[in-house]
Amino acid sequence: MSRNFRSDLSDPDRFIITMELVPKAESTGRSINTVLEFSKQALNDGRLSAVSITDNPGGNPSLSPDVLGKEILDSGIDVIVHVTCRDMNRMGIESRALQLRRMGMNNILALTGDYSGKGFGGQGAPVFDLDSVNLLCFFNMMNQKSEDSDHFFKGCAVSPFKWTEPECYAQYYKLRKKISTGADFIITQLGYDARKYYELIQFLKNNDLKIPALASVYLLTPRVARVMNSGRIPGTVVSKELYMKILEEWKSDKRTGYFASVDRAAKLAAICKGLGYRGIHIGGIHRNFKTVKRILDRMAEIENSWQDFLKEFDYSQPDHYYMYEKNKQSALSSDILAPKNSKATSFHKLHFKFLHSIHNSLFSINTPHAAIYKKISRQLYQNSGIVYHLVKFFEDVLKKILLNCQQCGDCGIEYPGFLCPESGCPKHMRNGACGGSRKGKCEVYPDRFCIWYLAYQRFALIEKTENMATACAPPRMWELNKTSSWINFHLGRDHHTKLCSIAGACNTGLCSPKKQTVKTDRIK
Ligand code: SF4
Repeated sequence: MSRNFRSDLSDPDRFIITMELVPKAESTGRSINTVLEFSKQALNDGRLSAVSITDNPGGNPSLSPDVLGKEILDSGIDVIVHVTCRDMNRMGIESRALQLRRMGMNNILALTGDYSGKGFGGQGAPVFDLDSVNLLCFFNMMNQKSEDSDHFFKGCAVSPFKWTEPECYAQYYKLRKKISTGADFIITQLGYDARKYYELIQFLKNNDLKIPALASVYLLTPRVARVMNSGRIPGTVVSKELYMKILEEWKSDKRTGYFASVDRAAKLAAICKGLGYRGIHIGGIHRNFKTVKRILDRMAEIENSWQDFLKEFDYSQPDHYYMYEKNKQSALSSDILAPKNSKATSFHKLHFKFLHSIHNSLFSINTPHAAIYKKISRQLYQNSGIVYHLVKFFEDVLKKILLNCQQCGDCGIEYPGFLCPESGCPKHMRNGACGGSRKGKCEVYPDRFCIWYLAYQRFALIEKTENMATACAPPRMWELNKTSSWINFHLGRDHHTKLCSIAGACNTGLCSPKKQTVKTDRIK
């Protein structure tokens, strides 16, 4: 019987099972046959609501999920297509969305995406013209523009497994934004810490966010556990202790190791169901659908005793930050928020306070002198003479010193706490952290702090970290590249203006987050 992911998700009595399929860099051959065979068996099995297909996983080229997805969809099982922002600019993504609609495919997992990997002739240019929040907003607008106004059913990702307080809050604040901009479901990243899985459920409940969440469950083999433990798969966490345990399980014979891994996946699935997840998203199975059946059969056997397994999923790191205090009676968290202790360094305090005050007095729409600034800017812009170039030169030098400015002409420093998203973030994220940071450090440049980690500490200085959940940044306006961002702002030419279609949509509340605070009190 064919399944429909969206209607299955709307059935409160159904626990949703989906599975991730990973095509490789070939258009025919064994990997493609395996994926198609998996889908056929998933359909026959009847327990899966959809399969999801990755989009150039790890940033490396593979067969298009749209093409493969269409073939699978036609065979009778629903498909969730991963759409990342890494390889296409907004035009490419719009063209792809039109193609997906034409093909009758509607389930989207909107992702920022891993950084670029290697293709023909070396590493590809990372695009990141949009981010995952913009992408959700874009698919909303695609829906609004069409007769079939709810064609695209849009999912987003979150990593509840972050180490530090700033990363943890940055993830949830961005999730808040994604939900406000139209996400219909959530799929988590992978970790082996039941308390962290529960934290997401607590956050959703505490903020009255009624969105279904699917928990990632994975078949961990020693090879994958090693890669995840080394941090080479962004957003996933496998502790050293768990990795050693898996090595031990697989040491004597592979069969014992394999069944231990199946059992672990089934127990984690049962726990997530018990914690309140609406479903699970199974990954890491590439050879034989029998493994999926074994996990689901085992899960069905043990799911009523899920609480007995909680202690087996306590792979927290000694320095892990949890948003809620530990519950002394169980292996989970209580409903009391943990203290916030993260502090900006003296340099960041000074840098933030200086730029914050300058910005408020010179670059706020509400500044009392806005009309004067606008008049001066108009004269400079219309004359475009030597004075304009002198102002532009002064701006470039000052902002290069203060922000390592790249002269994008459409300044977005107010979003990441007065840091430059162009020079500070290799993915140019204006709406929050991607899932890839590790212990506060950038996924791409591990010697640098993630700017969103710093943004949290900087906003904490003025008790405004919740800005990270409510200030929605439209995509950068490329037509302003290498022009004066100061003048563009005062003339209303940059993304703050309603002339930019997405900014216009945000300003009219179409896709902007509701100005709702993120609750930090006890769970009701
Ligand atoms: S103008 Fe663009 S490149 Fe320059 S500081 Fe602002 S965001 Fe960064």
